[in-house]
Amino acid sequence: MNLYDSERLYKSLSGQYEPTSSEEEADLILYNTCSVRGKSEQKIRSTLGEIKDLKKKKPHLVIGVGGCVATQEGKKLLNKVSHLDLVFGVDQIEEILLLIEKAKKKERLSQISFKEEYSFYATNTIVDNKNFSKVSSYVSIIQGCEKPCTFCIVPTTRGFEKSRNPQEVINEIQSLVDAGTKEIILLGQNVNAYRTKNTSFEDLITLIEKKVTGLKRLRYITSHPNDVSKEIVQIHKESSLLAKHIHMPIQAGSTRILKRMARLYSKEEYLEKVESIRSQVKNISISSDIIVGFPGERDVDFEETLDVVRKNQFDQVYAFKYSPRPGTPSKEKLNDDIPEEVKDERLQKVLDVVDQVMLQGNKLYEGKEVEVLVEGASKTNPHMLTGRTSNNRIINFPGDISLKGELLPIQIKKALVYSLEGSLS
Ligand code: SAH
Repeated sequence: MNLYDSERLYKSLSGQYEPTSSEEEADLILYNTCSVRGKSEQKIRSTLGEIKDLKKKKPHLVIGVGGCVATQEGKKLLNKVSHLDLVFGVDQIEEILLLIEKAKKKERLSQISFKEEYSFYATNTIVDNKNFSKVSSYVSIIQGCEKPCTFCIVPTTRGFEKSRNPQEVINEIQSLVDAGTKEIILLGQNVNAYRTKNTSFEDLITLIEKKVTGLKRLRYITSHPNDVSKEIVQIHKESSLLAKHIHMPIQAGSTRILKRMARLYSKEEYLEKVESIRSQVKNISISSDIIVGFPGERDVDFEETLDVVRKNQFDQVYAFKYSPRPGTPSKEKLNDDIPEEVKDERLQKVLDVVDQVMLQGNKLYEGKEVEVLVEGASKTNPHMLTGRTSNNRIINFPGDISLKGELLPIQIKKALVYSLEGSLS
C-alpha cells in the first residue's frame, strides 16, 4: 500500500517536480512511512536524523513526512524534528502541492485529516524505474480497517473502512492495462471487506473480469480470514483471471492467543476454512502472516503455531516479532512480557520450519510444467527472467527480455526454498 501511495504522491508532484538521482540534489524530500511495527517507525527516525546536515547546507530544502507514522504522530513529529517542514496524512496525497507551497512560506505545518470518501483520480502514468510499463501494478480498492485486532495500529492510521467506487476502480485498471500492465493486484488493509452500496468484493471481482479488456491476471491482498466468503472461493475455482492464491494471515496457532488478539476465529475454524478452500480449488496457494511473542504466549501456545505451520503446509509465511504499537488495545492493556531473546528464538524457529515446508512444497513441482507470467529480468542474474505462477510461486528461467509480459509454459527443473528454476517448455 505504501508503494502504491508513493506512486500517487509521485503523480501528484509531476509537472512541478522532477525526480533526482540523489537526496543531495533535491529541493524537496518526502518520506512515505509505515508504522505497523516499531522497526519501520525507527527507520524514519534515523533517516530524518541523517538528513539534518543537508537541510543546514540547503535551507530552502523542503522535508516532509507522510503516511502512517505522520498520522500517528501529527504535530508531535514537528516538535521532535526541528528540520522537518511538513507532516501529512494518508488522505492528503492529492493536496500535496498546496501543502508544500504553504511549507515553503515558512509555515511548518501538520495536516492530518481523514476524508469521508476514498476517491481519487489515478492516471496510467505509473512506470517502473527502467521506464517500461509494469507487468504487475497495484490498485487500491479500500482503505482502513474495522476489525478489532488488539495488536494492530491500522484502524488508527488508516481510519474506518472506505471503499472506492467500482467504476473508478475499473477505469484505473483499464488505463493501467492500456499502458501495458498484465496483472493487477487489488489492495486494502482488509481488502475483502470491500463494499459499496451496491457492490460487494465478489461483485467487484466479477465486474473487473467482465468489463476490463486485456487483463491477464488479478490478485488481491490482504484478506481477513473471516471475510473469505464461499462466493469468492467459488470464483477462485471457476475464474481463469483470478489467481489461485489467497493470503489469509492466521497470526497465531493457539486459540487462547487468537482470543487475546481478537482475531474472531479459533484455530479449528481457521484450519477448517483452509481445508475447505483447498478441497474446492485445485492447486490453490494459501499464505499467511504470523506474530510470535504476543503478550502471554507460553511455550505450549507457540508450539501450536509451529504445529499449524508444519501441518498446514502454508505456501508462504511472513513472520514477525510482536511489536507493541501506541494506542492499540494490546499495548494499553497487556504487558509485553515475552523477553526479546525469546521472541528472537521463536521467530527463528518459525522461519526454519517455514523454510522446510516451503522447500517441500516447491519440490512437488520438479519435473512439472507451469504457466508463468513473465515480470522481467531477474534482479540477481540479468540473463534470467523472473515471473510468477497463478499460485504465486516465483519461477526463474533463461530467456530474452522481449518475453516480458507473456504468459509462458515453463518446465520446472529445480526447487529452491523461495523460488523454482526452470526452462521454456
Ligand atoms: N491487513 C494488513 C496487515 C498489514 S500488517 C495489510 O496487509 O495491509 C502485515 C502483518 O504485520 C500483519 O498481518 C501482522 O502479522 C503483522 N503485524 C501487524 N501488527 C503487528 C504488531 N503490532 N506487531 C507485530 N506484527 C504485526
